[in-house]
Amino acid sequence: MSRSIPAFPNPDMLVWARETSRLEPAVAAARLSVDEAQLLAWESGDPGLTVAKLQAVADLYRRPLAAFYLSERPEVPERVRDYRRPWLTARRRESPMLAAEIRRAEFQRDNVLEIMELRDQEPTHVWKEPAGFEDVAARARTLLNKHSLIARPGQSGKPTDWFFYWSSALEEMGVLVVTANAVPAQEADGFSVALDPVPVVGVNGATHFNRRIFTLLHEYAHLLHNTSALCDLHEESTGADDVDRIEVECNWLAAEILVPSAAFAQRPIVLGAQTGASDWQLWQLRDEARAWGVSPEVILRKLFTHGKASQEFYENWREEYNDTDRWSSGPEPRKANGGDGLRTKVRNLGKGYVRNVVGAMSEGLLSTYETSNMLNAKVEQIPKLLDRARVPEVD
Ligand SMILES: [Zn+2]
Repeated sequence: MSRSIPAFPNPDMLVWARETSRLEPAVAAARLSVDEAQLLAWESGDPGLTVAKLQAVADLYRRPLAAFYLSERPEVPERVRDYRRPWLTARRRESPMLAAEIRRAEFQRDNVLEIMELRDQEPTHVWKEPAGFEDVAARARTLLNKHSLIARPGQSGKPTDWFFYWSSALEEMGVLVVTANAVPAQEADGFSVALDPVPVVGVNGATHFNRRIFTLLHEYAHLLHNTSALCDLHEESTGADDVDRIEVECNWLAAEILVPSAAFAQRPIVLGAQTGASDWQLWQLRDEARAWGVSPEVILRKLFTHGKASQEFYENWREEYNDTDRWSSGPEPRKANGGDGLRTKVRNLGKGYVRNVVGAMSEGLLSTYETSNMLNAKVEQIPKLLDRARVPEVD
């Protein structure tokens, strides 16, 4: 029986293949339905691996069977999978949860590149077209509005509608958009990985959707500045050093993309306001916020930059109101966590990513095994994930 034919691969190639697949031993072992100790034993040269099991290992790590019989690791990797993240040393260390989510984003990016290779498809660079122009915000906004697969939400649009509107646009422009899971809101709002092709932006799923929208465009602004970043919008930047200057610039750009100054200046809320006003009410800010699909925070920021709110009022307001008041644009029933875990999974992976991966499977380019690996999901979940990633399915 072929199942019992013993295999004698190079143990170091088992380690190499797993590591380059970015799978932790525990995860790989679970996927292979063996104990972690057993997997580590094979990686240390213990016998007992069968040809059938080695084939499963090869499928999981997406390597040909022959790779496991090489006498040493390939000198030149097929593709450089690791790169330095300069912000780590610049500002702070990330928590294991955030580190894991950034690794996941990198894993997803690798998969997108691999699918492109399989399709012999040229990457799109539309996302960077606005970079370097004087009117970068206007150009970015025009492109985003043109590329979203979702109809632009109207006045009654929910924050989720707006988030998927903007994120779909970025995806179509060649950016991988992911949502970080289980990262405390206090730790980070988002991150960007300025690689070309397929740059990545990540938003923290623990924050309000309006906040994620602002973060999404703030991170896109980082890409347009060709900087990778780990961002915390809690910090009010002073503009004192280069990093702060970039943060201020990205905040400005995000606000300008969401609420263009020229159009905002014609709104009744601006036309009717006193210079340096210091009596804005939350309901006023919320009313205006809904018109743009943003938060009261963004509206007050715009009023301030238009000279219609005093700096003192703006700063006090930010201190006075809690996150929910500052970022929520209205009374909205917050759905309890839990419920449909698949919807959260699709949001975390990114809808465009899910469609891309499942599409490659439908085209016969990926096996169901590879697909479930790329989606970190069971094979039987794949159709349900695709259902929740479809374009008209906004939420
Ligand atoms: Zn930033």
